[in-house]
Amino acid sequence: MNPGYELPLDEAAYSFGFLDEYAKREVRRCILKAISIPGYQTPYASREMPMGRGFGTGGLQVTLSLIGQNDVLKVIDQGSDDSVNAVSLRQFVELTCPGIDTTESTVEATLIQSRHRIPETALTEDQVLVLQVPYPDPLVLVEPSEARRKVMHGEGDYSRLLTKLYEDLVHFDEITISHRYPTRINGHYVIDPSPIPRYDVPQLHQSKALMLLGAGREKKIYAVPPYTQAEPLVFDDVPFRIEDFTNAQGQRHACVRCGAVDSFLDEIMPADGQDGAQKFWQCSDSDYCNQQLAQRKLLAEENA
Ligand SMILES: [Zn+2]
Repeated sequence: MNPGYELPLDEAAYSFGFLDEYAKREVRRCILKAISIPGYQTPYASREMPMGRGFGTGGLQVTLSLIGQNDVLKVIDQGSDDSVNAVSLRQFVELTCPGIDTTESTVEATLIQSRHRIPETALTEDQVLVLQVPYPDPLVLVEPSEARRKVMHGEGDYSRLLTKLYEDLVHFDEITISHRYPTRINGHYVIDPSPIPRYDVPQLHQSKALMLLGAGREKKIYAVPPYTQAEPLVFDDVPFRIEDFTNAQGQRHACVRCGAVDSFLDEIMPADGQDGAQKFWQCSDSDYCNQQLAQRKLLAEENA
C-alpha cells in the first residue's frame, strides 16, 4: 500500500473499521457464540474485503469488529512485524480506524492479529489474539462432505483422524504433521489451530488470553476461550512432541542474532553462490529477538 495514500473524500465516510455497523455486529455475535461453544466452527457471512481471500481476510474481519479507539494493535506474519502481509494489514487498519495505536511490542498490544505464530512472550488476560486461518476443519483430510463432517464433530467422532495419525506412525515411526496440528478443545471439538508450528500448540492450553480464529474464505469463526483445555490429538503411548532444534550432537541451536535457546527458530539457508557459508538459525518472533538482544546489551554494559 502506498504510505501516502488517503481515502478519497467521497469515501472518507466509511465507518470506523471499514465494515458497516451491521456487519460488525454480526461478526461480534458469532464471536460470542464461538466463545460459548469452545472449538465449534461458527458460520458467518464473511464480507468482501479490499484484498484477496487467503491474505488474512478472516482474521482482519474479527480484528476490525473488535477494535476500539483505546486499542493498541500488533500485526505479525510468521512472527515478524515487518513482512509484507503484516505491514499491509497494519496500514489498512490504521487507515480505516483513525485514532488507534499500533505497536511492534507484544507486551504493549491489547489486540494481536497473527499469521502462523503465537507470540513467544506469554499473553495476559487483557489481550486478545486473532489468528488467520486458511482451513478451519481438521476433518477435511479424511471426509470431503461438510454435512458429514458436521455430524462427526457433533458426535465427537475423530476416529478417522486418529487412524490417519496412526498410519503416519506406521509409515514414519512418528507423527509427521509439522503445523495445523489437530487439537481438542474443552474435551470435545477438535480444531485446526491454523498453521502454527507444533511448538506453539501448548500455548493454547489454559491460555490467559482469548484466542479467536477467523477463516474468511471458509466463512468460519471459532475460539479458544481463556483457561480452556487444549490437548493435541495423540495416543496414550505416543506423547506429543514439539520441534526441539537440536543438532546431531544433541545440542540445541541458538539464535544467531540474540543467542536465545528457548525460542522457536527459523532455519535460514545461505544464499546461492555463497560457497562454504553455513546455514543458521534465528528467532522467528522478531519482537522477542529484539528484546533478548536489548537485554544482552544491557548486561554487557553493566559488566563492562
Ligand atoms: Zn533471537
